[in-house]
Order: sequence, then C-alpha cells, then structure tokens
Amino acid sequence: MTEYTPKTRLAAVLNQTEKVDRMPAICVTQTGTVDLMEACGIFWPEANYDAKMLAGLAAAAHTEIGFEAIRVPFDITAEAEFFGCGIKDGTKVQQPSVINHVVNSLDDLKPFEGYDIKDSSKRTSTILEAIKIVADEYGAELPIIGSMIGPFSLAQHLTGDSWFMDIMTKEEYGLAIMEFTTEFAIAYANAQVDNGADTMSIIDPTASYSLIGGEFYKKFVVPFHAKLVEAMHARNVPVVLHVCGDTTEGLAIMELAGIDAISVDQNVNAATAVSKVEKALIVGNLDPVNCLWNTSVEAVTAESEKVLKELDGKGLLAPGCGIVSQTPTAHLRAMVEVAKSYKY
Ligand SMILES: [Zn+2]
Repeated sequence: MTEYTPKTRLAAVLNQTEKVDRMPAICVTQTGTVDLMEACGIFWPEANYDAKMLAGLAAAAHTEIGFEAIRVPFDITAEAEFFGCGIKDGTKVQQPSVINHVVNSLDDLKPFEGYDIKDSSKRTSTILEAIKIVADEYGAELPIIGSMIGPFSLAQHLTGDSWFMDIMTKEEYGLAIMEFTTEFAIAYANAQVDNGADTMSIIDPTASYSLIGGEFYKKFVVPFHAKLVEAMHARNVPVVLHVCGDTTEGLAIMELAGIDAISVDQNVNAATAVSKVEKALIVGNLDPVNCLWNTSVEAVTAESEKVLKELDGKGLLAPGCGIVSQTPTAHLRAMVEVAKSYKY
C-alpha cells in the first residue's frame, strides 16, 4: 500500500486521483483559538499583523490539535484593507472586521489601477510571508492551505450593503466590480501558491444562493469562481469553497464553477449535501458553537461519527464554519481523531 504523507493524502482526496487509506483531518476555515494562543504564547490581535506570529499560531493547530494541514490566515479582511476599507482591529477573541467601504462607482476603482499584490506596506504581504514561513518549515509533509475572501464577498466589502441591490439593478456595474475583485483574487491566490500554498480555501460567505438566488448566483458568482478555479487548477492546486448558511439548494450550482470541495455549515444536512453534488466533495459540518465549543469531548465524538455516516465517504469531516476562538483544544482533538479513524 502507498505510504501517504498528510500532503499527498489530502491532494489525492481533493483531486480524486486515487483512493487513499484514511480520511485526512483538516480544517479549511479559521483555526485560531485562545487555547492555542496560550499554548504557543502568540495571541490575537497581534498575530494578524506579524508574519512570524501568524505562522506560529497557524502551526499550533497542527502541533497542538493534530490537524494534518496548516492554514493561513485567521480573518478575511486583509483584502478589503488592501483597497483602503476601514478595519476594526480584532481582539484576543475576535477577528478584525470591515467597517467602511470605498467603492460607489466604477471611477472609484481607477486609483487602484496597477496595484502591486506584493506591496509590502499591506497586510496581504504579511499573510504571504506567513505562508512562506509555514511552507518552508512544514510544507514537505503537510498541506499548506492558503485562504482568502472570495470575489463576491470582497465586492460587498468594497461597496457596502448596496451591493445586493446593485447586482439586481445595475448589472454592468456589478459585473465590472466582479471582474475587478476576481482579477485581484487570482493574483493573490497565485502569490500564495508562489509562497508554498498547495490548497486554496475560498471563503465567500455572502455569495450565498439563499441570499441572491440561483439566477443571480449563476450570473455574478459562477463565472468568476470558475476563473479562479481555472487559475488554481493550472497550478495543480485544488480549491475548496466555503459559503455560510443553508446552501443545500445551491450546491449543484456552486459546483458548476469546477470547485473541488464545498465546505457547508451546520444548517445543511451532510447526507443531503452529498446527494446534491455530482463530483465535489462535501466538507463539514460540525456546528462551531453548539457542538465544537459548547458541548463535551463525548458529544463532539458522537456528532463527528454521525456526520461521517452522513458523508458516506464522499467528504471530509471538519468544522462547519470558522472555529470559535474559545473552543477547547480537547474538543477539536476529538473531531480530528474521528476523522483519522475513518478508513476508505
Ligand atoms: Zn461560514
């Protein structure tokens, strides 16, 4: 039997190239917790702004919990920050958030022309550097999961809540913004891959079928996700997409972009999700609050086994959304153990 490293095992599973021995234990959503901060002595919010600290805390999810991958970063605001959106700093228990928006018309995009994705004054470059640090130290054996906000949610960060009305009333404008954010996403994803990311996790929380419906999803999301997927596949990098909320009826449409795996949250039944997709793997979907954070090792183990049954070998057991920072390490270890115990 082939001997797999965590890196070759995850690649084989996501690319569906061969049947492997057992399930990889990974998390495609954020992994920072207070337990990990205390274990490695690196804390939020500082860890969001310093490459070495970011890398150190990200690696702790592997060394302390046992996740068989390292994922960078912890938040999805550096992309909006890159374009000058106001950011509220996070705290020890909370990620930073976007508080204002900078684009009201296509003219507002003009000042960004010729932007440098590696601009060292931006936090995106801190994240790129953190990816390089973890890739250099762990990348031979472990998957390095690069991550970023998806182009639709970035468009919403740039334009504000009017975005949802804009796509329905100003199609040309909406599509032009999507072109812009997708071009940025591709450049940023490629830069992450240049620095050692071998798997891409796209977090596009508001690109939700339940928010915009199938017609608008097909027009404003699928073609743009498809471009990003194509760019990643050209570099042999599989793409996992996470969208929040009840995505059940949207899964078949989400898959049209060629996404390799779809991370679903606890509002979706994993067995139903598996039945809705043709090829994409389903990743999920332990409730980060009502299971992973607020129950017990026994309850997490039981719920993990239930999700494994629902996935029926066609997915990966993982948190349904970003791990809540107060989640105990013991609970996450319990989930990891159940994932690793699943033989294909
Ligand atoms: Zn989510």
